[in-house]
Amino acid sequence: MRYQINDIHPCVQGEGVHAGVPMVLIRLQGCGVGCPWCDSKETWGFSEKNRVGLADALGTNPRWAGAGVGETLAFVRSRPPKIRWALITGGEPAGQDLAPLAKGLKEDGYRTAIETSGTARGHLGAGFDWICVSPKFDMPGGGEPLPECLESAHEIKHVAGKPADIDRLDRALDGLGLREGVVISLQPESLGRKATELCVKTVMERGWRLSLQTHKFINQR
Ligand code: SF4
Repeated sequence: MRYQINDIHPCVQGEGVHAGVPMVLIRLQGCGVGCPWCDSKETWGFSEKNRVGLADALGTNPRWAGAGVGETLAFVRSRPPKIRWALITGGEPAGQDLAPLAKGLKEDGYRTAIETSGTARGHLGAGFDWICVSPKFDMPGGGEPLPECLESAHEIKHVAGKPADIDRLDRALDGLGLREGVVISLQPESLGRKATELCVKTVMERGWRLSLQTHKFINQR
């Protein structure tokens, strides 16, 4: 199994329940959802001219590399040793079969987390310790979150800018068999003032959580 990798780097998780936790972030290439506010648009495509070796792909850029599990794990191991979480994100990482990589990370002693839009199933059955589904609705690229992906989530992290975004999430979750204890986090779209006010008000009314993209305050990617 080879993975299409955009970047691997240590970071402090900035979003959701694990905000503040150091992790090795593995960013996979490729996403067709097309969210207008996406802050990792460099991961969307697979231009051949941007295909490089893994060492040359690293950083915030559209370059990407194909790498097997062993090569990927070697890069992860070279990161600071005290970091005990590995986070697979994208792009949309679940477009790739993540079971071999998740297994290798676990064998190396990492706890494993994934962030996915829920539009693909590559993480299901892979034994992740933390599945964060961030559903996107009615986006230009299409691809709605799949019910089984929403039901797999330990955390559902929803970007909201207006009341209709909350209504849309309510409709998507209605009638699903969500995991017991699932955490719902609201994240203000682009940290805008009105979006933030809406999210603060809603999480207090509903007992949800606020997610604030704290990595942007500390200049981390
Ligand atoms: Fe960007 Fe994620 Fe939306 Fe894909 S699903 S376009 S990576 S925000």
